[in-house]
Amino acid sequence: MQRVKVVVVGAGVVGLSTAVRIAEALPYCSVTVIAEKFSPNTTSDGAAGILLPTEFPDIPLDRQQRWFKETFDHLLAIAYSPQAADAGVYLSSGFHIFKDVPCEKKPFWADLVFGFRNMSDKEMKLFPNHKFGQAFTTLKCECLSYLPWLEKRFRAVGGQILQEKVTDLHKLALNYDAIINCSGVGSHFLVKNEEVYPVRGQMLMVNAPWLKNFVRDADGKTYIYPGIRYVNIGGTRQVDDWRMEVDKEDSEGILERCSRLEPSLRVAQVMGEWVGLRPGRANPRVEREYLHVQGRQVPLVHNYGHGGCGITLSWGTALDALNLLRQSLFDKPPQARL
Ligand code: FAD
Repeated sequence: MQRVKVVVVGAGVVGLSTAVRIAEALPYCSVTVIAEKFSPNTTSDGAAGILLPTEFPDIPLDRQQRWFKETFDHLLAIAYSPQAADAGVYLSSGFHIFKDVPCEKKPFWADLVFGFRNMSDKEMKLFPNHKFGQAFTTLKCECLSYLPWLEKRFRAVGGQILQEKVTDLHKLALNYDAIINCSGVGSHFLVKNEEVYPVRGQMLMVNAPWLKNFVRDADGKTYIYPGIRYVNIGGTRQVDDWRMEVDKEDSEGILERCSRLEPSLRVAQVMGEWVGLRPGRANPRVEREYLHVQGRQVPLVHNYGHGGCGITLSWGTALDALNLLRQSLFDKPPQARL
């Protein structure tokens, strides 16, 4: 029997997670990942990789909770296995601090991480310009290790990889029975979707091995995330800014803001600077449509637009994409290709 040919466009954390889930769950499919860029050159590779959801306005909270729980539990199992070092996944504890007391003091994901609590007065004294804070333990998933680990897992179940820029999904559909679009901010061009836009983020990598806890200002523009190779400090959130060059003023601002939170950073050596484009969108798009090609209806499942939460939600949205594909193949079994 001929296997169903599925192609996943994109090899960031969303594309590779989706490809692994499909290849492992549907053995009657042959799965190919096509992408212009692979690790270490995707946005996912440079991201800090802390698991910390933000709330999307138009997606039911129970769905967002499910996306996060799936991802957290999957990565926690890796963190507590002998694979943790290879995959670059581990627990990370720290503080989320607010300049003003938020209306919602307990976010929807509070019970899904470990030890969520409000910070004590003594802890808040460390941050005199902030009025409120939350302490918890979450996970950090470093994609420089995790993407090669996922790629190995994908190949182990027969997955294939092609490096190529896709310019036309209809043309791609001539050779495949189903397409999964995980092209991140690339969807702005690939599916001509103005609703996806870049949110430029610049970060510095500094040598400060004495720092063990993360600190994040809730405005999302100042954060310190200790990691395996270095400490990520950031950042910027510049909407509709496609610049990939490092901006010296941004770097100076990052160092200044982060040193105010953590004075020891003033003597830390800067090891590198990095810019990435978050796939901004009001809500992630995890849904299905059909392409009409030479009399065939080819399912096109979208899984993009995760903004600053692509790693945080990757395994959960990948499961939804898998289920949408499974349902499509059941509703409309593939027709013969010419
Ligand atoms: P990408 O990683 O960008 O991958 C897209 C893939 O699609 C690439 O392989 C690309 O080559 C391919 N592609 C695109 N167009 C085409 C085409 N036409 N043809 C072929 N291939 C194509 N998230 C977190 O959860 N936690 C964090 O701590 C965190 N920190 C961040 C810090 C910064 C500074 C930035 C910039 C982002 C951060 N993020 C974080 C967000 C995270 O990086 C993204 O949400 C995530 O990387 C999106 O993954 P993706 O797979 O959708 O996109």
